[in-house]
Amino acid sequence: MRRFDLVVVGAGIGGGSLVYNLLKQGFTGSILVVDRGEAVSTGASAYSAGGFRNLWTTPINQQLCTRGISILKNFQDEMGVGIGFRQSGYLFTYYQDAWSRIPAAAEIWKSNGVDFELFTPAQVEAMIPGLRCAVDAVDPDVLEYLNMEAIAGGVYGKDCGSFDPSQAAVGYFERALTDFPVKPVLELNTEVLAVTFDASGRATGLRMKGHGGEETVEAGMVALCSGPWTNNLLKASGCPAEDLMPIIAQKRMMFLTDFPDQDPRWENIPLTIIDQGIYFKYESGNLLIGKAKSDTPDSLDTTFEPDYYVEEINLVMQERMPATATCKLKSGWASLYDTTGPDHNAILGWHANHPGLLLQVGYSGHGAMESPAVGIGLAELVITGGYRTIDLTPLRWSRFREGDLVKETIVI
Ligand SMILES: Cc1cc2nc3c(=O)[nH]c(=O)nc-3n(C[C@H](O)[C@H](O)[C@H](O)COP(=O)(O)OP(=O)(O)OC[C@H]3O[C@@H](n4cnc5c(N)ncnc54)[C@H](O)[C@@H]3O)c2cc1C
Repeated sequence: MRRFDLVVVGAGIGGGSLVYNLLKQGFTGSILVVDRGEAVSTGASAYSAGGFRNLWTTPINQQLCTRGISILKNFQDEMGVGIGFRQSGYLFTYYQDAWSRIPAAAEIWKSNGVDFELFTPAQVEAMIPGLRCAVDAVDPDVLEYLNMEAIAGGVYGKDCGSFDPSQAAVGYFERALTDFPVKPVLELNTEVLAVTFDASGRATGLRMKGHGGEETVEAGMVALCSGPWTNNLLKASGCPAEDLMPIIAQKRMMFLTDFPDQDPRWENIPLTIIDQGIYFKYESGNLLIGKAKSDTPDSLDTTFEPDYYVEEINLVMQERMPATATCKLKSGWASLYDTTGPDHNAILGWHANHPGLLLQVGYSGHGAMESPAVGIGLAELVITGGYRTIDLTPLRWSRFREGDLVKETIVI
């Protein structure tokens, strides 16, 4: 039977960051990484919008994203792999009620040294071609139907932006597989069927199925970087309900359209969030648009629904930015969020009921920007037994039963 010191389930940006940072910090044990995909990054990392922002109100998210942005900024230099890093800003827009709560968040951002500006409606309009903050020109029935209000102001974060998480995953694995004395083993096209445990509940390895058939592998530690598929794996491993993650799998779609018009400013727009959480950003000469569907069930279904853009998102966009009425849908895709129900934040560190089982799951739609820093913290935990430079304790699995949730006070 093969034996490894660590087996990692999942070769997305999360698994990649963990393995690279372990080796960078001097881990000398043997590592096996397993993924069912045919290549590195075939899960959420491949379908992400790749947005990053340092506008948060909880210290842990603030710390992870501030550190994450500096890692991503230097990624090409350190790793030799381009990740399309664009620090083109984020622009959040608000109706009056939410806008009145922004001063409280602004105090937090100021004390955290975040570079941001509060925009008047005129400044918002100057940044996004054709956007109208007022709603006087919208038919009152349409306004009511779409539940739209005037935009009262905006928050512009200039250090925010976007990158390609898939390329970052590739970069992490390229370096991890070649640059260190210990060479991890990467096995793709391999389904992990179950995590194995001993009588005390300690994780002891995996049962998996690849080209060579079924195999049981022994491991000193098992790391789950397996996104929304984690609970299915734990259930298949015989774990009872109280051991599972409080996460649900939720379909999230992205839509690629052409620009509304020839205005050259589209090339430099920030990632902009408007009515009902619709967001859009520049993407290689196109607009990339997303919006969470409110009634998305807990399901691993990833069927792409182009009608959702045509019949719901664009209806709102064309009232806010009339020129977008002519935007043609060119392409799109669907993937999954691993949404942590209680507080929408990641679950990181050792599983309290299962020694040797390391968790990096439940990113709830912000794992691309957080996993570069998380990998550093988890590597510290594995190597030294504790967090050294990045304390991930607030995001421990046991916070749910302890009633110690990490809630963003102002959700932006
Ligand atoms: C549409 C969309 C937009 C997003 N936008 C943003 C954004 O703007 N900013 C941001 O920060 N985040 C965003 N996210 C979230 C972000 O993409 C994820 O949090 C991040 O990619 C998670 O990385 P991961 O490595 O944990 O998971 P994944 O990339 O999903 O990797 C998990 C891997 O585990 C493998 N796996 C699971 N179970 C098994 C098994 N039993 N056997 C073998 N292999 C297994 C899967 O094949 C997969 O490759 C977005 C996500 C989506 C879907």
